Amino acid sequence: MQKKSSEAIVEMINVSKTLGDENRSTTVLQNVNFRAHAGELILILGPSGSGKSTFLTTLAGLQSPNSGLVRLFGKNIQEYSARELQLLRARQIGFVFQTFNLIDALTATENIVLVGKFVRSKRKNLVDRAINLLDLLGVSYLARSYPGQMSQGEKQRVAIARALMNHADLILADEPTGNLPSEQGLEIVKMLRNEVRRNNRCLIMVSHDQRVASFSDRVFSIQDGAITQQSK
Ligand code: ADP
Ligand code: MG
Repeated sequence: MQKKSSEAIVEMINVSKTLGDENRSTTVLQNVNFRAHAGELILILGPSGSGKSTFLTTLAGLQSPNSGLVRLFGKNIQEYSARELQLLRARQIGFVFQTFNLIDALTATENIVLVGKFVRSKRKNLVDRAINLLDLLGVSYLARSYPGQMSQGEKQRVAIARALMNHADLILADEPTGNLPSEQGLEIVKMLRNEVRRNNRCLIMVSHDQRVASFSDRVFSIQDGAITQQSK
């Protein structure tokens, strides 16, 4: 996809989201304005329940706001067809879900190769790249293991490898240190940062872990679905 270097990769304009009905509703995102560009490492910090996962899935077009506009790669999300949005997500966005969303019936390598099928490449190349990524994440020994045989931290590393598979321009990571012992968690974030820097990608992480801030260019706080930029 063509994009000018000054153009935001992703943008939210006056986005609000409410869940529930008229009797009982929760505002999950409150008038959010946000933009991110290639080469940026961004952290959204907030406690549990503050709206971090909703923010990230809304950015990726996995759910829609009640009001406002989400623009992905220069175009309003609503102007993409469902198919276009699916392909865009598969090719241009690497998403590390809070609960990983690995497929239990597939090995680590197969889980990673599966997303590679959306970019045209030979199977042998896909397998080689998947194995290299597992190696980069320090879990090459898991290549033939199934998610049911992995610890939470191991699943997290496989999920990150999968998010890097397609050389996506935008990497979204939900609690990247969440399930890892503290030192390992920071090591993972450092590795993600290096990958993103090397390729001038854009990384947006959401976390409750203040220590991730030192690996980010811009830090925002989220509280009750409202986002404000912190000075660093
Ligand atoms: P975080 O990731 O920061 O923990 P979430 O985005 O998961 O926060 O949730 C924000 C708020 O929205 C919470 O109050 C949560 O209970 C509520 N929420 C999230 N998803 C749903 C849902 N599907 N139905 C009802 N409430 C939800
Ligand atoms: Mg969450």
